[in-house]
Amino acid sequence: MTDLPSVRAMLEREGLWADKRLGQHFLLDLNVTRRIARFAGHASGDPAGGLDGVTVLEIGPGPGGLTRALLEAGARVIAIEKDARFLPILAEIGAWSGGRLEVINADALTVDEAALCGGGPASIVANLPYNVGTPLLVKWLKAGAWRGPMTLMFQKEVAQRVAAAPDTSAYGRLAVLAQAVTHARVVMTVPAAAFTPPPKVDSAVVQLTARPDPFADLDALETVTAAAFGQRRKMLRSALASLGDAEALLAAAAIAPTARAETVPVSGFLDLAQAWRARR
Ligand code: SAM
Repeated sequence: MTDLPSVRAMLEREGLWADKRLGQHFLLDLNVTRRIARFAGHASGDPAGGLDGVTVLEIGPGPGGLTRALLEAGARVIAIEKDARFLPILAEIGAWSGGRLEVINADALTVDEAALCGGGPASIVANLPYNVGTPLLVKWLKAGAWRGPMTLMFQKEVAQRVAAAPDTSAYGRLAVLAQAVTHARVVMTVPAAAFTPPPKVDSAVVQLTARPDPFADLDALETVTAAAFGQRRKMLRSALASLGDAEALLAAAAIAPTARAETVPVSGFLDLAQAWRARR
């Protein structure tokens, strides 16, 4: 698998440039993309970081730097790319891989991933476009049994919010939602200069692996965390007033009415979501 021009050479040959409206910042350095692929392999259960026999859903392959690394590691890749300009390059990479790459020209926000990956399981790997990273993560957190582990690059600040612990300023709705169904940790930081063109901020990769006891009612969890963190400086008995009898809800979840959202662990929010649902 060595007879392919470099990603940079392919971009130049095709006269392609990064379209900022689609959050395009490319990884052209194979050392970086291979590291991300190895983390995806670890998350998928291979201590050596390989992806043999693993189906990977890649969002936003663009010119295919990360795609190559995933294919090199042995994965079968289903890639969803909104920008049709990259299809010729991706077709070339698909041929090089011996047919292990399928490319879907679509918007990842609206695709039916379960149908695309035949019910799964599929690992999700992506250098996500910044503008849709959070809604995509929430969509996948709510997904069914097809969704395997996720290895996702976000802006560093978003990555920290996904993996945040209570009593930190990064802890909020995203941490609670993510950690209700997965174990989330930041595994790698990538400086802005590693991208072409460089974004304004650094990025980081988060690894999300399934919890053995995923919380089922993420809609209820979204409701209570929106209220709680919407007014994060307030005591919960005031912040949750919009949900009805806040004191009774907090008592049912064994949370002090004077507590603030930032101090409540994920398990406390799960109890709160259950208590709220039970009163509906
Ligand atoms: N994976 C490539 C890499 O690492 O060099 C490109 C990553 S770039 C940050 C994000 C990619 O997502 C771009 O190729 C962009 O066109 C694509 N993209 C943006 N919005 C999208 C959407 N809603 N659905 C699918 N792809 C999208």
